[in-house]
Amino acid sequence: MLSYYEARDLIIASVQPLAVEKVSLFDAVGRAVAEDIIANQPLPLFDNSAMDGYAVRAEDCVSGTTLPLNGYIPAGGKLDCQVGPGTAVKIMTGAPMPPGADTIVPFEETEEAPDKVTILGTVKKGDHIRWKGEDIKPGDRIIEAGTVLRPAEISLLASFSMSMVKVHRRVRVAILSTGDELQELDEPPVEGGIVNSNSWALAAAIREIGAEPVLLGIARDNLESLREKLTLGLQADVLLTSAGVSAGDRDYVRDVLEELDVEQKFWKINIKPGKPTAFGMRGPTPVFSLPGNPVSTMITFEEFVRPALLKMMGHKTLHKPLFKARLQEPVKKKYDRLQLMRVAVELNEAGEMIIASAGDQNTGILRTMIYAQGIALLAPDRDYYAAGDKLDVHLLGAATALGY
Ligand code: AMP
Ligand code: MG
Repeated sequence: MLSYYEARDLIIASVQPLAVEKVSLFDAVGRAVAEDIIANQPLPLFDNSAMDGYAVRAEDCVSGTTLPLNGYIPAGGKLDCQVGPGTAVKIMTGAPMPPGADTIVPFEETEEAPDKVTILGTVKKGDHIRWKGEDIKPGDRIIEAGTVLRPAEISLLASFSMSMVKVHRRVRVAILSTGDELQELDEPPVEGGIVNSNSWALAAAIREIGAEPVLLGIARDNLESLREKLTLGLQADVLLTSAGVSAGDRDYVRDVLEELDVEQKFWKINIKPGKPTAFGMRGPTPVFSLPGNPVSTMITFEEFVRPALLKMMGHKTLHKPLFKARLQEPVKKKYDRLQLMRVAVELNEAGEMIIASAGDQNTGILRTMIYAQGIALLAPDRDYYAAGDKLDVHLLGAATALGY
């Protein structure tokens, strides 16, 4: 059986980024930029004042000196004056530096009279100027391909007048729930019926990372129904199914996928929960068959599907970073399996991350998922952790640039 890490690596090696499209900056936040962004101009574009004040030559500015004013430049103003020896020009923040000046003296350090200004403090040459190109030089590689665009990156692209940006297409993910017992939310409850919550959980997880869910509804546990729905699902960029992959007598999902030319890459991962997860490819289309138990469905999505979708959308950070967190209480586990424990995460007074089980770890308990802020990785070769032991943990929830 594949290990947790082997399964992740195999999945990531199997999937490829989707085609590139151009989108407007307005639609770009949260998406990964598809190419390196190279500065096409310096930033700032010209030397300009960082303060409201006076442009001067520092050598003229002994404290107490009064200089006649030789003009006024507002932000966005034209350069129609210069600073000759022994003179000053009134200037606003962002206005271009007039020729001849080498320093800005802020208002607060002067006393203004009509047509002249008295310098009060000491003046250091070069103060309060934003130099052309001091922030970014033309040719600088300023955003790396695969970086998630945040407001800061959008700001930069906008300041380069790049109104469109290349990103990878949003991945369209077909979601198929399988099971004779399943009912849709709006159907009147029948005896023995289970409401299909997995489709909603998966759709939410898909939308959370900027991908596009396609809800295919429910396939029944028979070959005809599965054939019809799985065929439809294979038209999407990715097909996700839930349930019907265990060893039950009506678990046909893998059989029908094989019939539909999906090459199975693996079935079963040495983890708990989520062991019966299967993964296959048909051409460029990955197919994930997730176990049906709602907790297992969500955890296997988080651990195995999410990174694959991010790769397809061109992200460079695929896996969430692992924190070292201290366990608050001892934990027993089954030897030989990697356990993905749902944990409550807190920071102690020292700012260290502290974890404790978020509740009953039985996969039937959805409540524990609600109370969990993270997933702790408990190693296969351990059957016990003591209070105070440090564990690898990643957080649950939406991604930031670092992939948290
Ligand atoms: P299975 O993998 O088919 O053995 O299903 C495992 C458990 O998950 C069973 O109790 C199912 O009723 C439940 N289950 C399967 N699919 C869903 C679904 N879409 N929504 C909620 N529960 C489900
Ligand atoms: Mg079933």
